[in-house]
Amino acid sequence: MTMTALGEPCVLLKLGEIILKGKNREVFEQRLRANIKLALKDYQVDIRQRHGVVALFLPEGTGVEVAEAVAARVSEVFGIVLVHLAWRVDKDPSVVTKAALELVADTPEVARKAPFAVRSRRRDKRFPLRSSELDRLVGGELHDAYGLPVNLSNPELTVSIEVDRDEVFLYTNGRPGQGGLPVGSSGRGLVLMSGGIDSPVAAYRMMRRGLRVDFLHFSGIPFTTSESIYKAYALVRRLDAFQGRSRLWVVPFGKAQQSIRASGQDRLAVIAQRRLMLKTAAEVARRHKASALVTGDSLGQVSSQTMANIAAQESAVDLPILRPLIGMDKLEVISEARRIGTLEISELPDEDCCTLLSARNPELAAKIEDLKLIERRLDADELASQLADSIQAYKLDS
Ligand code: ATP
Ligand code: MG
Repeated sequence: MTMTALGEPCVLLKLGEIILKGKNREVFEQRLRANIKLALKDYQVDIRQRHGVVALFLPEGTGVEVAEAVAARVSEVFGIVLVHLAWRVDKDPSVVTKAALELVADTPEVARKAPFAVRSRRRDKRFPLRSSELDRLVGGELHDAYGLPVNLSNPELTVSIEVDRDEVFLYTNGRPGQGGLPVGSSGRGLVLMSGGIDSPVAAYRMMRRGLRVDFLHFSGIPFTTSESIYKAYALVRRLDAFQGRSRLWVVPFGKAQQSIRASGQDRLAVIAQRRLMLKTAAEVARRHKASALVTGDSLGQVSSQTMANIAAQESAVDLPILRPLIGMDKLEVISEARRIGTLEISELPDEDCCTLLSARNPELAAKIEDLKLIERRLDADELASQLADSIQAYKLDS
């Protein structure tokens, strides 16, 4: 396709909830710009704020493939609801019309004569046509050229035209962004990251609400293989696309698990272990200035996640424990894991450290006093701080 009338490609971003932030909006927008810059560090882009829209300008002569790659990459940044590949054309109604004709020429919607609409906005009132006039002009030309039916209430193809100060932006249907708030605008958290399906989705959900997260994985090493570590690493790498600069710490947990088993309370072992994980995580969080823990718990999913057992875990630490999947069905979690690209990693085989302690008949309502007794024998707080000393760091430079 030759881009004769289309001008230069760029990328336009429509923001979501940030727009509702009133006086704090500027802070959120700054954070978003910094996050966009980090995500697009391999590209040359110039980020410009245009009335509630963020425009990403590319160097003159940039090809459409690069613009598409930028659009795809930036659609992983939280705080954006829609991403449009757009064209910058001259502020001249006849140029805009020609460009619109070319813009839609090869689309499947035109091929099947799908209903369409033109939506114009005139930000610069010096432009000779009002937006309704521009709609009619361009819409009429598209209708005549391609025989498309107009449908203003439910179009399958929308041609959007934004008349700005220096140029006109032209674009069709965009791709959805992730929504949410810019990572970092809600502070820091630490995700307890297994190799399973749930915790990566929990991490994604909290990042989407603006929490910058680091990751802590408990490995059964030296009594298990390191497969679960590779999985955790691969999962964090995938999730890093959504925030950048992620850190993964691995706790060698096998010996501590052995001590828990030695306490002889098989039915309580999983909950006792979970409390020790939480205590260790709280210590790591304190050292790295995270103010919340995040887990993939979902009410009733497994025996350690009955309401009573969740309550028994809650009291192990003072930090808030965020459980974004608490009210989700497993099938919903799985479909989200598929969408965000973690499912195929989670489904790889591994030797989960938790299987070391699983009981045939696990307690469904663990009592705090029983757990405290085990913890006194273990000296759990001291053990948690030793475990926090023993973590190994994995840095991700994506
Ligand atoms: P997941 O799919 O996230 O492993 P799950 O349904 O298997 O969850 P559990 O194994 O009971 O549930 O774990 C509940 C939560 O405890 C996990 O979502 C995770 O946050 C944390 N967790 C469990 N095992 C580990 C581990 N080895 N390292 C770090 N966190 C863990
Ligand atoms: Mg698990």
